[in-house]
Amino acid sequence: MTAPVRTTCPYCGVGCGVLAAPDGTGGAAIAGDPDHPANRGRLCSKGAALGETLSLEDRLLHPEIDGRRVPWDRALDTVAQGLGEVVARHGPQAVAFYVSGQLLTEDYYAANKLMKGFLGSANIDTNSRLCMASSVAGHLRAFGSDTVPGLYEDFEQADLVVLTGSNLAWCHPVLFQRIEAAKRARPQMRVVVIDPRRTETCDIADLHLALAPGSDVALFNALLADLARRGVVAQGFVGAHTQGLDAALAAVRPDDLAACALPAQDVATFFDWFAGTDKVVTLYSQGVNQSTAGVDKVNAIVNCHLLTGRIGRPGSGPFSITGQPNAMGGREVGALSNLLAAHMGFAPGYVERVGRFWNAARMATAPGLKAVELFDAVARGEIKAIWIMATNPVASLPDAEAVRRALQACELSIVSEAVRASDTVEACRIRLPALAWGEKDGTVTNSERRISRQRPFLAAPGEAKQDWWILREVARRMGFAAAFDWSGPADIFREHAALSAFENDGRRAFDIGAYAGIDDSAYDALAPFAWPARADGSAGDTRFFAEGGFFHADRCARFVATPVRAPQHAPTAEHPLRLNTGRVRDQWHTMTRTGKSPRLAGHRPEPTVELHPRDAGQRGLGDGDIARIESAWGAAMLRVTVSDAVRPGEAFAPMHWTAQVSRAGGINGAVNPAVDPVSGQPELKHTPVEVRPVAVRWHATILARRPVRLPPVTYWAHAQGAGFHSYMVAGEQAPAAAQQALSAAIRTANPGPWREGGDGLGAVIADGRLEAALVLGERRDATARDRLEPFMAMQRLDAAARDALLAGGPAVDRGGELCACHGVSGAAVTAAVAAGALSVEAVGAATRAGTNCGSCRPGIRALLRAATLREAA
Ligand code: SF4
Repeated sequence: MTAPVRTTCPYCGVGCGVLAAPDGTGGAAIAGDPDHPANRGRLCSKGAALGETLSLEDRLLHPEIDGRRVPWDRALDTVAQGLGEVVARHGPQAVAFYVSGQLLTEDYYAANKLMKGFLGSANIDTNSRLCMASSVAGHLRAFGSDTVPGLYEDFEQADLVVLTGSNLAWCHPVLFQRIEAAKRARPQMRVVVIDPRRTETCDIADLHLALAPGSDVALFNALLADLARRGVVAQGFVGAHTQGLDAALAAVRPDDLAACALPAQDVATFFDWFAGTDKVVTLYSQGVNQSTAGVDKVNAIVNCHLLTGRIGRPGSGPFSITGQPNAMGGREVGALSNLLAAHMGFAPGYVERVGRFWNAARMATAPGLKAVELFDAVARGEIKAIWIMATNPVASLPDAEAVRRALQACELSIVSEAVRASDTVEACRIRLPALAWGEKDGTVTNSERRISRQRPFLAAPGEAKQDWWILREVARRMGFAAAFDWSGPADIFREHAALSAFENDGRRAFDIGAYAGIDDSAYDALAPFAWPARADGSAGDTRFFAEGGFFHADRCARFVATPVRAPQHAPTAEHPLRLNTGRVRDQWHTMTRTGKSPRLAGHRPEPTVELHPRDAGQRGLGDGDIARIESAWGAAMLRVTVSDAVRPGEAFAPMHWTAQVSRAGGINGAVNPAVDPVSGQPELKHTPVEVRPVAVRWHATILARRPVRLPPVTYWAHAQGAGFHSYMVAGEQAPAAAQQALSAAIRTANPGPWREGGDGLGAVIADGRLEAALVLGERRDATARDRLEPFMAMQRLDAAARDALLAGGPAVDRGGELCACHGVSGAAVTAAVAAGALSVEAVGAATRAGTNCGSCRPGIRALLRAATLREAA
């Protein structure tokens, strides 16, 4: 093991510092960086499992054209020539880039510069459009600048933390842990969770407002009016530093609040707390942003903070948390199609200034297409060439099948990717192998504006290259060598920093001019810092706007009138339920990396739809059944979980599953493509659907050392086990025929003698080792994997073990993986509680659950509460 390398987690927008110690064989030991200000040594379950995701399995390692390996020169020549020809024949608006919050800032900068300065189009958009574009637009409307006013430490210093549209416990776990620790230290600190679902984040809530989906604007409008009525108004601040309060108040209707369908007492409590607490942070995320009213939601929240002057002071402010590791970096370089670069838009003065700085060959002069409309233009044939970098739109965009068809029909489809097994890679003609986390080199910016280094600690595999290198080589071949004359990421970072300060004069919030002249060794050693970092040293880790200084021309903020609007697509008789989509604790985006970790897969091994007991009962659905979720746009097939954590009339499904790991688990195929009219962010939280039972006649569980090519079945989902692949399968054909087809498929991939046992069990045992096992029956056997897994772990089965296996295995029900770090099941925690462990700490002492990353502590508390209720009954 060599010395650890300081780097940054590649998952969420918290941006935790990581120490990665390579083991010399392609792996690495992972620990939290105790010196990083974002996490101070903490990691969540995903970050802690990073070492399990580094294998080269499923990597794209060589350039390919039309499925055939080609040399880099040929691939780059083809891309450069193809882009050039499309621009020459159809003009610059016929090309587009679709990039990603996974790109490092240097890669982002290179892509943005090539598209907007040299191809002449602004048709470059990023998957951050799906994540926080509404926050960007809300910031621009209110502040005149896309600026997050506060810092993470504000969460700990606040006396009231309002979490709205954020399942922080699962989606940004380290920030949740910071708030949880602060509340333990100061129990008088209050937490309010505003979310239609009762999520794990409610674990620390003093009040949960389970408002009707999409009614956030109504709630915050009513709060604004209530604050004004009570006189909780920072008169001096509002008078000196804001405009537009009267219009914002006039937009509030007395009956707005009815849309929230909340108990009046709960609303009164929330309003009392907000009015009576000076230090308030309102933290919001995708539940606010992913909406056709997303920008209005942001501004309705910001309005309340402007009115009370609670912004930019320690423990106070509205705070947008980004989903992606470098969504903020993309905002800095301008890789949203409506931004130009370095916090400049498309006003003629900005276009001229950036063009001069870049010595641009052909400047874009107007905003380009946003993600959904960009792929619509591909589908219509208006965009003839699209280059996708480090993202998977075939799985992640709404109406995902339409995206697949558009890509397959596109004249020139290019993808730069680290991963081979991706729905998008399969749909593109030219495939360029990119470096992955642990191999690439550059910077990222987290949700509190903190720039940190991602450093390589593994050798570049195969012929993979970093994205900026690929872009530079294409730019050179197109005749732009001088403007892309970079020898490494430090060159690009210096240029990016210089542009941020170029003719800035304090008129643009993003300014890291202090770093425009750093040398390569200073870049290598760069410690995390929050911007601004001006060349004159006039800023350090700082907040914005406590004393005004907004970035509209008059330096005043704007209250924005946010009249309540109905969602674009309301439930109908045909589609009466409202589908909400989101995330689970241990998976990240489309599972291309987290899906490789067996311990992460154990938490939620299958794609599910959560339904309220009333709705499930009305449809004849029970826990574990297979259901078809249908909308006007498409369908998915998911396993049912019945839960009163969702409201009646609603359904919840995670967005992680793709065609690579499931038959039809990609929920975005059913999601509506409506977007916010200002930000263009899709309405991922609100699609009218119907959920129907699928009449499967059998269920099966397969564990196999080598991947199995399954025969046609109604439902399957794959999860990675420790040294094996697991498949949950179900079908509508006769069970005997299914047993025959599945056993044949298993034996093709895992040859050896086939042994049959009791209760529908079959197994391949070769040279004394279990190679594969199948359990098939008419009823779902939820514990089959738990029973079979111990046999897969044995190098050889002795006679007793073989007999036990063929008898179906010992009765085991682990109740799912609760603690991913230590492999502790829900059943083990329940047993510890029954044996007298009556606190999270006692459970930790008994089982180790919850003693590492802490992501499972809400789950442990839920089991403790359940045990208390049972005891009381
Ligand atoms: Fe990574 Fe977890 Fe930290 Fe997010 S909270 S950056 S996923 S370790």
